[in-house]
Amino acid sequence: MGVVKFRVAICGGGIGGLAHACALAKFPDISVNIYESASKFSPFGAGIGLWPRAWNVLCALGLDEEMAKITSASPMDGTAHSFSFRKSDQSNGFTFGNMFSRGPMLTFHRAQFQQVLAQHVSPSCRIHHSKRLKSYSQDRYGGPIHLSFEDGTHGICDVLVGCDGIKSVVRNCLLREQAEIARDNGHLKDERDLLACTDYVSWVGSVAYRALIPVERLKEDCDKGLLVLPTTPTMYVGTNVHLIIYPVSQGKTVNLALFHLQPELQDMPYRGPWSKEVDEAELFNITRFESWEPQVKRWLKYVRRPTKWAIHRVKPLPTFISGNVVLLGDAAHACSPHQGTGAGQAIEDAYFLAELLGHSRTTLETLPRALQIYDNIRRPWTQETSAKSNANSRYFMLHYDDFDFRNADAAAVTAKLHELTDLIIADWKWCWTTTVGDSLKAAIQQLEGYNL
Ligand SMILES: Cc1cc2nc3c(=O)[nH]c(=O)nc-3n(C[C@H](O)[C@H](O)[C@H](O)COP(=O)(O)OP(=O)(O)OC[C@H]3O[C@@H](n4cnc5c(N)ncnc54)[C@H](O)[C@@H]3O)c2cc1C
Repeated sequence: MGVVKFRVAICGGGIGGLAHACALAKFPDISVNIYESASKFSPFGAGIGLWPRAWNVLCALGLDEEMAKITSASPMDGTAHSFSFRKSDQSNGFTFGNMFSRGPMLTFHRAQFQQVLAQHVSPSCRIHHSKRLKSYSQDRYGGPIHLSFEDGTHGICDVLVGCDGIKSVVRNCLLREQAEIARDNGHLKDERDLLACTDYVSWVGSVAYRALIPVERLKEDCDKGLLVLPTTPTMYVGTNVHLIIYPVSQGKTVNLALFHLQPELQDMPYRGPWSKEVDEAELFNITRFESWEPQVKRWLKYVRRPTKWAIHRVKPLPTFISGNVVLLGDAAHACSPHQGTGAGQAIEDAYFLAELLGHSRTTLETLPRALQIYDNIRRPWTQETSAKSNANSRYFMLHYDDFDFRNADAAAVTAKLHELTDLIIADWKWCWTTTVGDSLKAAIQQLEGYNL
């Protein structure tokens, strides 16, 4: 490595952290260390979907060829049938909507996806496993950032990128730091608001049960015509419960996620671990699936030891930056997964930030400008898209317009479902009608427009 302009520490080697390291790989004058709390990269979860907007970022990072080998759809550019919506909490379920997008939602096995990212970080990037960040400290007027880890060791960097997920330690330190600054400047209301932010993660009142089902196990039911393997992601919707099914691992595996909402529990504290393996029998106690369309029960029959996730979100933060510390991905804006965009937004943040950090105008002295531009552009954008995803978490559970989907007559239900489909699609379109490139161009112009 030649002359180093500054040292970046990435806290967290999940999708966001690894994508950021991949995006920084093209800037040899930035040294990169990743600190990951787990002893190895071991993604927890099942499948993930990526929309064209995020896919375009993977293309810009040169990862498309490798990623195309492990996805289940073809990343083509034309019109794709990206979702089917079925009303399923009745014996004669029916398709009430179809969503078409420009380019498909590409689906991946999460472990394979993360493995490709890990293989593409620069060889000069140092990865430290079993390093759980406890806190950081930085001088208010600049200088290096000191990192303290749970194992008693320390590290140092010039920029700390908090990619440590929804329970982010970096976020909590950053908000406390900003509260102290507000207090010292006499802004007591801001101080109170910022301190309240340290409690800014809330449970949305729903849990997800996720499982991967090898296709060979489904063969008998498929041969008898009792189950049809999904080529298009399918959403089976009912009041307070919905199921999503799509293929991953090039069609060798089916990803299943069952969501259960208890609206009265929204924003209440969630008791128990946020994710854990449970017995499949728990699924059948959620609702009376006997009254649902038969294929839903059939899918559930194949689930073994699902992972149960309590779905939490980060409420809109007043800032993603403090000094030379910056948040990205779930640490900054975790949302409910009902547009399949959390990982995609983490990847966009990662790329966007790397392009600003790597720009020739960004030096140790001008770092705060680059970070301010990131915050000015990415924060409002991700908070708006998170709000859309959070809204879907209610729509897919048939909470819309105070309409009584259980008791209204069939014609009224169908009309309302069509209205709902239009709304869902209108809110989802940004995933394939917009690109991160436009906002990045504006960001670079701002960076270059600064007078040195
Ligand atoms: C049920 C469900 C389904 C989803 N489906 C989709 C989907 O289809 N499409 C999509 O785009 N998104 C989806 N998401 C969202 C997606 O999983 C997240 O948005 C994404 O993983 C965020 O990446 P991240 O790197 O910011 O955080 P994470 O993936 O949480 O990674 C954080 C990393 O930081 C490490 N870490 C944590 N604390 C510390 C510490 N103190 N020190 C060091 N390391 C630390 C962790 O071990 C982890 O490796 C889904 C989420 C859920 C719950």
